Amino acid sequence: MDESQRLASAFVPYHVPFAVARAEGAYLYTPEGRPILDAAGGAIVANIGHARAEVAEAAKEALSRLSYVVPTWATPEKAALVQRLRTNWLPPGVTQCSFVSGGSESVDAAVRLARQYQLLRGETGRWKVVGSDLSYHGVTTSGLAVGHHANRRAGFDPLLLQFPKMPAPYCLDCQLGRDDARCREQAADRLEEVFEREGEETIAAVIAEPVTGSAGAAVVPPPGHWKRVAEIARRHGALFIADEVMTGFGRLGSAMGIQQFGVVPDIMVGGKGLAGGYAAMGGIFATEAVVAPLVEARQELMFYTFAGLPVNCAIADKVLAIMEDERLVERVRTLAPVLRKKLARIEEHPNVAEVRGMGFMLGVEFVKDKETLERFPKESGFGGKVVAAGIQEGVFFYPAGSGPVQDAIMLGPPFTITETDMDLMVDALEKAIESAATRVAVASGA
Ligand code: PLP
Repeated sequence: MDESQRLASAFVPYHVPFAVARAEGAYLYTPEGRPILDAAGGAIVANIGHARAEVAEAAKEALSRLSYVVPTWATPEKAALVQRLRTNWLPPGVTQCSFVSGGSESVDAAVRLARQYQLLRGETGRWKVVGSDLSYHGVTTSGLAVGHHANRRAGFDPLLLQFPKMPAPYCLDCQLGRDDARCREQAADRLEEVFEREGEETIAAVIAEPVTGSAGAAVVPPPGHWKRVAEIARRHGALFIADEVMTGFGRLGSAMGIQQFGVVPDIMVGGKGLAGGYAAMGGIFATEAVVAPLVEARQELMFYTFAGLPVNCAIADKVLAIMEDERLVERVRTLAPVLRKKLARIEEHPNVAEVRGMGFMLGVEFVKDKETLERFPKESGFGGKVVAAGIQEGVFFYPAGSGPVQDAIMLGPPFTITETDMDLMVDALEKAIESAATRVAVASGA
């Protein structure tokens, strides 16, 4: 391995870093000039595609005007972004905006905001935030604590608050998202048991990903699920927080993902697609009712030093303007069924349990036996082998899965992707699955 590359990945010492020298549209280019189709938009981030000159121009303009101010101060860049978000992106009623530097910080801020809200209402015993048992909410200690991504939490339990969990809408009996609508509907009812067990007077909020991202590889709940969860949470005096870090800003084919489930959350957090990978940017959004107790008590939600940098706001504003001008969310809605149709032959593969997801956030889960849903032996690393073989085929798929979802990948392409690139993506996935299956069979002596 090249020494400079190794040094660039000091905390992933076993890993040969995949080197990328530049990118354009839906393609990454290695230092040798080899194109790799970015079927995952990086970590499901690059919604408008890579290296748009208009965004670079907006960043240059903003930086030459203003570099840094204390995050609580107002700037024209922030004002413009807030205006755009309120007008075109946030659900009606979610009007209060604040910015952070990414998804983990946005969740951390939401946990603090929920606690602060309850404290100021005199509900001093309410501190727990209920998460779900298959979820990822980032890597701060509060994000790891409210989430349940088994692999990413492993070993950190002593550092984490023991937040209760509700069942994810992933059937724990049949161990697969597709199988049994009845089990999945019961998942919401089991939130009632959590309130009963913990005591509602201890619970500040319930947090959920509208569609489970990296932990579950795009698990879509049944239609009424989040409505029911929000109703239960509110009936018990808790807030409902939607984590839209992966699902927000068009990824599911709507401005924000939760809108498709008919719920307006009390708090909503975003990241990834907000600035489409052009800036380290996240947001925390809330209804006026959530912020009112802070206003009344003249208390602020403490900021992070680099929150809402003028250049980041200008970049996010430009990225969202491009999405609006090019009608990219409508494009996701139109092309998602086309992509699903192309993926139908992947679902037929004997090692594919299911292709699932919504819009341009799709998951493919792998099993050893399609009929019995038996998993591959964990040590075979089937999902990782698919990702590695995909890169050999010239396409990057995002590795996903945790706990019961052992081997999976996600597709989260830029919204600008063409049908020709979709064909390339599906062909490469088919070959990558074949290659992984062959390697695992050879390794097991089958
Ligand atoms: N929440 C969700 C739903 C995510 O998918 C992620 C990242 O994948 C995060 C939070 C954490 O975001 P970040 O990695 O930007 O800190």
